[in-house]
Amino acid sequence: MKTFDYRRATDVGTAVAAVAADPGAAFLGGGTNLVDRMKLGVASPDLLVDVTRLPLDRVQELPGGGLRIGATVRNSDLAADPVVRAHYPVLSQALLSGASGQLRNLATTGGNLLQRTRCVYFQDPDTPCNKREPGTGCSARDGYTRYHAVLGASESCVAVHPSDMAVALAALDAVVVAVGPDGERWIPLTDLHRLPGDAPERDTVLRHGELITAVELPEPVPGARSAYRKVRDRASFAFALVSVAAVLRVADGRVRDVRIALGGVAHKPWRATRAEEALIGAPATAEEFERAAGIELAAARTLRDNAFKVPTARNTITAVLRDLARGGDS
Ligand SMILES: Cc1cc2nc3c(=O)[nH]c(=O)nc-3n(C[C@H](O)[C@H](O)[C@H](O)COP(=O)(O)OP(=O)(O)OC[C@H]3O[C@@H](n4cnc5c(N)ncnc54)[C@H](O)[C@@H]3O)c2cc1C
Ligand code: SF4
Repeated sequence: MKTFDYRRATDVGTAVAAVAADPGAAFLGGGTNLVDRMKLGVASPDLLVDVTRLPLDRVQELPGGGLRIGATVRNSDLAADPVVRAHYPVLSQALLSGASGQLRNLATTGGNLLQRTRCVYFQDPDTPCNKREPGTGCSARDGYTRYHAVLGASESCVAVHPSDMAVALAALDAVVVAVGPDGERWIPLTDLHRLPGDAPERDTVLRHGELITAVELPEPVPGARSAYRKVRDRASFAFALVSVAAVLRVADGRVRDVRIALGGVAHKPWRATRAEEALIGAPATAEEFERAAGIELAAARTLRDNAFKVPTARNTITAVLRDLARGGDS
């Protein structure tokens, strides 16, 4: 591993200034993704600015309703938070489906959102990869694609975003708070991550030196239920093949409010807006849920090894919504 400097930040302004001033600098959260990438030779920062001692480690109810989650709140603490468990179960379930207990104890909210793809070629510096080294090509296109994207991919890159938490946050209409050299800005979670287009090296809209300080959740939808379901190769320690986060409110047998986000299918958490539009006012039946899922997935484009993701996503969306409509989860 290349040698690097390490600095422990004590306030947000100093942390931002230190990283913004040095193109080779990076923020360090729990390190469970960045340090792995450094060991693999995929990342080689010359300065790490540790943000875990910043005063951003609280989950607070907002005065007008909703919740503010500090960027250094650990994944385990967030999953166990009583307000999250009671009012945002989809978030707690998504967190608990990710990684392992030990990793969740270290992983932070900000770092989890900005973890990079697990595409095997991205993680192997000996293979061409447009995301790691722009212009070199995409080894996955003619390679092993069981884990790759079926929605929103490009010729340049077919990788998927790996975070479970981000999928739940997309369904909850979360907003990311970021501080950079030019001040603070609020970014809807669904706009934080990019589709690859012809610049797959850029995962998000954040600029170098911008620090995520918090994630804000709006008030829970009154009367709605929510759940997260993850389809994977092993029951733990495995990334999503397909996942579904959903929030559903049904009244008089009809869908009144619905938010659906998909994981494991795209370069970003995929908000299923077409399915949502098709469901508003429709009868809350399995047939309608399946029809809406089909509308969303009509745009899917599969690769050699991942055609199964389309029926898997359709069936999982249908099953999650059907169970919520029957009164499952909360
Ligand atoms: C074996 C294994 C299995 C896993 N399984 C899953 C899984 O099933 N589901 C899942 O979702 N995840 C999984 N993970 C990934 C894990 O959740 C992430 O590694 C973790 O959430 C990253 O958080 P961190 O704080 O350690 O980030 P770090 O590694 O510290 O940082 C990640 C990135 O974010 C940047 N960063 C960190 N904090 C900030 C901030 N506040 N503002 C701006 N930039 C910041 C860093 O510079 C870095 O680029 C797994 C990881 C491993 C090793
Ligand atoms: S899918 Fe993306 S990350 Fe994977 S090899 Fe292709 S360019 Fe690289």
